[in-house]
Amino acid sequence: NLSTKLDKAFKTLKGQGSITEINVAATIKEIRRALVDADVNYKVAKDVTDKIKDEAMGRDVLTTVSPGQLMTKIVYDELTQLMGGTKEDVVLKGDPAVILLSGLQGSGKTTFAGKLATFIKKQNRTVLLVACDVYRPAAIDQLKVLGEQVGVEVYSEPENKNPVEISQNAIAYAKKNNKKVVIIDTAGRLAVDEQMMKEIEAVKRAINPSETLFVVDAMTGQDAVNTAKTFNDRLNFDGVVLTKLDGDSRGGAALSIRAVVEKPIKFISTGEKMEALDMFYPDRMAQRILGMGDVISLVERAQQQFDEDEAKRINQKIRKNQFNFDDFLSQLEQIKKMGNLKDLVGMIPGMSKAIKDVDIDDDAFKPIESIIKSMTKQERATPEILNGSRRRRLAKGSGTDIQQVNNLMKQFEDMRKVMRTMNKMSSTKGGMAQMA
Ligand code: GDP
Ligand code: MG
Repeated sequence: NLSTKLDKAFKTLKGQGSITEINVAATIKEIRRALVDADVNYKVAKDVTDKIKDEAMGRDVLTTVSPGQLMTKIVYDELTQLMGGTKEDVVLKGDPAVILLSGLQGSGKTTFAGKLATFIKKQNRTVLLVACDVYRPAAIDQLKVLGEQVGVEVYSEPENKNPVEISQNAIAYAKKNNKKVVIIDTAGRLAVDEQMMKEIEAVKRAINPSETLFVVDAMTGQDAVNTAKTFNDRLNFDGVVLTKLDGDSRGGAALSIRAVVEKPIKFISTGEKMEALDMFYPDRMAQRILGMGDVISLVERAQQQFDEDEAKRINQKIRKNQFNFDDFLSQLEQIKKMGNLKDLVGMIPGMSKAIKDVDIDDDAFKPIESIIKSMTKQERATPEILNGSRRRRLAKGSGTDIQQVNNLMKQFEDMRKVMRTMNKMSSTKGGMAQMA
């Protein structure tokens, strides 16, 4: 499926230090192929991967995330944007508010009519279902059974073959009987044909619904996009309902429909049961496609909290052998800002199981912090002056003991030693330059 393929694509980037033209090209190609394989329209896949590439190039890789993780976040953002960015609700305007359903036969219109009726009824609005599929007598019965099941009245005229008349009569009936929302279920053909289009166009013109929804089977892949385009050209519908997302559907339809017809997906249907209806959330869909929710939140947190300027400043000080306790403290704060330590480690793929029983103490940094905070400005900037009596004062002031203060001093000295060695190596001519 798409998420395993993308997974493979991101592996190309694993272990790379930064995102460059060379290492991103292969990944972009893989992502494009994965999207096309998932039934995403070729042009849409090309557009989105071009955007992903622009976005990725020249991005500084944060020290806390790998290029692969950063790419995942970029792809996630682009897919979310592609599917409309934010959730869009169905519009209920008018008295009664009228919702017209369109789509091919078997796409799931009648089933969706029952689900939508249930959904709206839960909001304490009275609903009337209207059977306008005049060609198959069984269609009226199907809607009646559903209506009974969900406790919603069904309007039908078994002898009348004119869907325009039936829907007009139904609206008049709704007004008289105080129904606030009217859902019109219509006939569909197995393929787009002119008579069906004319018929539903006529219904739309006659009743001017507040919402015309196009219902489409997500399993039909590339055809779903073409059908959506044809219906939209004739009906100028307001939103899309994507059905049968429970099965083996590859989800590619969700990605391309929005981009091609520029209409929002409003609902997704994930089963035959009346409860199997969900609002469509672009970000959730992108997460589902990527299957990497944890990585995404890790990257998001890192991006929010990581102060790049501060990182650069400290890097400079390390290079000049000027790293002091102020800088040390600032590093600790950066780590703390990222949140709960165990959560953070747990978000690294594969780590959550490994650390399940390990106790990571969030307070581990506390004594270190209070010792540093007990230092004077001068002591922080020039740790060399911290002699025995000053150290005893620090222990007292921070509520720790002399042992802890000495440990910290030793660790800090070791750290500075390593930094000095690295700086020396990088200033030596030769192959070691890239180590710093
Ligand atoms: P219509 O011809 O557009 O009215 O389509 P129907 O509502 O009659 O649905 C056609 C078939 O698809 C029926 O067997 C439904 O039970 C089934 N169906 C509808 N929605 C879903 C769904 O979300 N998931 C699954 N698995 N089946 C669905
Ligand atoms: Mg039907």
